[in-house]
Amino acid sequence: MVETQLRRRGIRSERVLEVMGEVPRERFLPPESRSRAYADQALPLALGQTVSQPYMVAAMTEALELTLTDRVLEVGTGSGYQTCILSRLAAEVYSVERLEPLARSAELLLKELGCTNVHLRVGDGSLGWPEAAPFDAILVTAAAPDVPPSLKAQLSPHGGRLVIPVGDRFVQDLLKLTRHGDEFRQRRLMACRFVPLVGEEGWEGDGP
Ligand code: SAM
Repeated sequence: MVETQLRRRGIRSERVLEVMGEVPRERFLPPESRSRAYADQALPLALGQTVSQPYMVAAMTEALELTLTDRVLEVGTGSGYQTCILSRLAAEVYSVERLEPLARSAELLLKELGCTNVHLRVGDGSLGWPEAAPFDAILVTAAAPDVPPSLKAQLSPHGGRLVIPVGDRFVQDLLKLTRHGDEFRQRRLMACRFVPLVGEEGWEGDGP
């Protein structure tokens, strides 16, 4: 997976490649998907959600440009797979999941795998985690109609990075915003397709 799906497609960060090689992706999947854990595709989770394709996880993580002193907010814990990767590349990870059963099973697994720097919360991550802000990096793993103002406000003004899929419910652009003071520089990284960000500053419901 690391060589053929990630390095060959342009993932350059040795630290991201190393961590992607270490984290046992199969542990985060339901039993029926485990044999495909390292396949080049997104896989189904419970409650109609998905765990993203390994390349997408690596590309988003690389775009965050994490250092070991960074405090990170993740919106959309899902299985906890991406959370586990972030936890090995940053100082503290704050992760919010809307669906309680997913959050609970991610919590157990992350504990088992020794991710002691992860803080989980069930709730609407489109509003961020204001008490823990500012964040050096924010990753949204569900698709928003626009960049949520609350997340922009919780990004560190000293070079904070926000990576988020923005578009309609079927296809989106993966955007990277970098904040310097009150200025946000925005770059499009690639086309993508994510499940909807459902919440006050996202979509109203799961359906089309
Ligand atoms: N990163 C996850 C992983 O590695 O398994 C996959 C995330 S999945 C593509 C998107 C997740 O975002 C789903 O679990 C979904 O329930 C969650 N989600 C959607 N809207 C949300 C919101 N407003 N707040 C928090 N989580 C949300």
